[in-house]
Amino acid sequence: MAEAAYIHIPFCEQICHYCDFNKFFLQNQPVDDYLQALRLEMIKAMEDQVLNEELKTIFIGGGTPTSLSAKQLDHLMESIHQTLPMQSVVEFTVECNPDQLTMEKLSVLKNAGVNRLSIGVQAFQDSLLKKIGRTHNKETVFQAVERARSLGFENISIDLMYGLPGQMIEEWKETLSVAFSLEVQHMSAYSLIVEPKTVFYNLMRKGKLLLPSQEEEAFMYETVMNEMERHGYHQYELSNFARKGFESKHNLTYWHNNHYYGFGAGAHSYLDGIRRENARPLKKYIEMIYKNNGTAFVSENMLTKEEMMEEEMFLGLRTIRGVSKKRFRDKYGLDVGEVFGPQIEEQLRKGLLSESASHLFLTRKGMLLGNEVFQAFLAVS
Ligand code: SF4
Repeated sequence: MAEAAYIHIPFCEQICHYCDFNKFFLQNQPVDDYLQALRLEMIKAMEDQVLNEELKTIFIGGGTPTSLSAKQLDHLMESIHQTLPMQSVVEFTVECNPDQLTMEKLSVLKNAGVNRLSIGVQAFQDSLLKKIGRTHNKETVFQAVERARSLGFENISIDLMYGLPGQMIEEWKETLSVAFSLEVQHMSAYSLIVEPKTVFYNLMRKGKLLLPSQEEEAFMYETVMNEMERHGYHQYELSNFARKGFESKHNLTYWHNNHYYGFGAGAHSYLDGIRRENARPLKKYIEMIYKNNGTAFVSENMLTKEEMMEEEMFLGLRTIRGVSKKRFRDKYGLDVGEVFGPQIEEQLRKGLLSESASHLFLTRKGMLLGNEVFQAFLAVS
């Protein structure tokens, strides 16, 4: 059974220059048909009993869920409440763009029991925001947070980005200091990754994208880790920081390699050792839902035990606590050292990994070179 449900809303009012998520420009899209298809997918999941009262978290992401109108958001919330088991849900998050957070939409979310907002902020310099293709500005972020608080939202997260084109270290420090002044409960800080098929990728290929050097980017990462700590946000994952008790329970499901179910175009699910992916194109997703009576997955991959153990390692090592040795033994019936002895030894020797009696975890140096460590645990067992 899945303890987390993800619902994908693949529409955006603007397309950011760095984004490779499954999203579509909102105008002229069959939004209502899509919402209806989502409802059918939820009904089917309940019929198939993949969700029950063990469901603890719901996360509506995108795309931009708040690009829906208040009426459409309301319709989506109604579908969720009428189909999914809500009795044990403790965390209900919606991703938002600051300039779309009207009082009307916020009220819809609040009335539906949404208790966590994740706001895409990225930076606090209007010129930088424009450069990366965002439509909001610093002022709209403050207004959005204020409005949300006035309606009683007490768990707000903001996303920030570093390593942006032309971003100076001083600007990153300024972004952090403005972010702290908002006194939100949770922050995520991601480094820019230039993905294929994005505006930035094309610019990079033409030699027109001026990015901070690797050293500067590493310095920005160290800065965010130090500053968050100093301001009372403890780091619990490589890119995530929270006030005590406000860690994202939904995202911890992914990092703990537990089961989740994803609804919508391109959404992923992980259930009983099987990873599934839904059709990404909107039209295809909607067609499949009707044709297959409520399912739209185009790939289904049964993981071997070896693959599950590898995933346990590279997902678990993303968390600051690291991989629990007991959990590993309970789940797979083997000691982590029996399976990954040489890899662990090597990473310990390199100073990238450390261990306590109960956990294996990345060192500070390992956090800066995370991918190198994760790679070491892939395709070895
Ligand atoms: S709003 Fe989010 S999903 Fe939409 S294009 Fe920008 S980054 Fe991508």
